[in-house]
Amino acid sequence: MSKDYYEVLGVDRNADDATIKKAYRKLAMKYHPDRNPDNKEAEEKFKEIGEAYEVLSDEDKRAAYDRMGHEAFKNGGMNGAGGGGFGGFTDPMDIFAQMFGGGFGGFGGFGGGGRQRQADPRRPGADLRYDLDITLEEAAHGCDKTLEIERMVPCDKCGATGSKDGASGFKQCPTCHGTGVVTRQSGFFVQQSTCPGCRGAGQTISNPCSHCHGEGRVHKDVKITLHVPAGVDTGTKLRSSGNGDAGVHGGETGDLYVFIEVKPHDIFTREGSDLLCTMPVSFTDAVCGGVLTVPTLDGPSKLKMPAGTQSGTIFRIRNQGVPALKGSGRGDLLVEVQVETPTKLSSAQEKALTAFAETLKDSNQPEVNDFRKRAARFMK
Ligand SMILES: [Zn+2]
Ligand SMILES: [Zn+2]
Repeated sequence: MSKDYYEVLGVDRNADDATIKKAYRKLAMKYHPDRNPDNKEAEEKFKEIGEAYEVLSDEDKRAAYDRMGHEAFKNGGMNGAGGGGFGGFTDPMDIFAQMFGGGFGGFGGFGGGGRQRQADPRRPGADLRYDLDITLEEAAHGCDKTLEIERMVPCDKCGATGSKDGASGFKQCPTCHGTGVVTRQSGFFVQQSTCPGCRGAGQTISNPCSHCHGEGRVHKDVKITLHVPAGVDTGTKLRSSGNGDAGVHGGETGDLYVFIEVKPHDIFTREGSDLLCTMPVSFTDAVCGGVLTVPTLDGPSKLKMPAGTQSGTIFRIRNQGVPALKGSGRGDLLVEVQVETPTKLSSAQEKALTAFAETLKDSNQPEVNDFRKRAARFMK
């Protein structure tokens, strides 16, 4: 006389699938023969739990059991009622393996056989990386570049299937029965690994395409036109959608990621969207003032330098920097002047400057005199 399946699992008659699964897992772990060696009682219990779970986890079987009790599973019991033929139970070890092996889900296939999830032979292609060096001018103005890359493209000889005979050339892998994985019971644990027969595809090709060796894709040198938007900087990553590797057997194509590196510039350094330029100016221009011609990315620009400009003074020229990559606006150009002290003077020049020095008043060079006063006590 068999026990009530709900009682065996210790669940309510209205219990949902998750509750039933949880109850089974807990009990199965407890009564597994590996944990209870030479214990007939545990073995019997383990079998009972497996049987109860097999029935209650299957919608059809559970309905039949609710209606007819154990009668439903006597030999041929369901056949007359037009069911799936529930004769016999699955080995409780198999049920356990299905549960703890993970992976090939769907517990509806027990006993009835063959409803395991089939592997998808398609696999997505890899994303590719390309490092692109550009000039500061190109980064500031934007540019179009032609990239030469080697990527995987769909094989046109077999329509990317990898099979010479098209779709009819595929056969279910006999090693894994199409699941792409093989399981191995090792003591208490179930190990799952990629099927060596089909390398996880679940299918084998009887007549592989010789052009792509059955992969459905081939290497090819291609040229890709890429628009680089104005405002990019070193570290900017541009995505060229669909220009990565084609997938295996027609799987999804990856993307191409272009990593930007802006080459150092002869004149300008960049800080965000601003440009910096250090510009030497003559001693007399700094003293007397003048109009400087300064370089910008858009050509020369005039800058009025007032008389008495000190070395290190920074002048800001609006909107002569780099455009913002996102949003609008453009940075500024910052020009730092560096007064160059004249060297290698002739004696006539030296004489003239000495004569000039004698005319200098404190007000001509207030900083010099101020410092002398502040530092006087350290200079005795
Ligand atoms: Zn296989
Ligand atoms: Zn091919």
